[in-house]
Amino acid sequence: MNGIAIYPGSFDPLTLGHIDIIARASNLFDRLIVGIGINPSKEPFLHIADRLQNIEQAISEFPNVSVDTFDGLLVDFARRNESSVIVRGLRAVSDYEYEFRVASANRKLAPEIETVMLITKDEFSFLASSVVREVALLGGDYDRFVPSFVADTIRRRVETIDKRV
Ligand code: ADP
Repeated sequence: MNGIAIYPGSFDPLTLGHIDIIARASNLFDRLIVGIGINPSKEPFLHIADRLQNIEQAISEFPNVSVDTFDGLLVDFARRNESSVIVRGLRAVSDYEYEFRVASANRKLAPEIETVMLITKDEFSFLASSVVREVALLGGDYDRFVPSFVADTIRRRVETIDKRV
């Protein structure tokens, strides 16, 4: 497929499941822009600067992938970047309802933009940022879910939380 695609998400933290979607989408489009959505009403686990740096490191092996942050509407971010495709990942049936609603809303807002869903690889079907956060905060082993440099970022973050209590 031609053109520029956006892969939006929170990436809080970036997981191996996200990287698999990035790798596969980078093969489908001329350019892929990973968009970290900033949600002012939600306190994130990892600081936006850390997430940006982690993604920059992860995409260094993909020459046609870049990363940026955005607030406001996803379709406005896509339009600003002259992108006509939004890429999302689907894990289980439970993802479907949410993704269906968001894609339908986005189509109403921007009919020229298509949402493309990539189905997760089996080995990542259980993997979500929320699972990694929970395991990390409970002192479990999350190293197999994320690249080593993300694990380092998480470790530093958990240490600052532990120091507060
Ligand atoms: P959001 O808060 O927008 O859902 P996430 O960072 O949790 O952001 O996810 C971004 C996108 O990546 C979503 O489409 C999500 O379904 C997809 N995704 C997350 N984890 C996986 C995974 N393990 N396999 C495939 N897709 C995934």
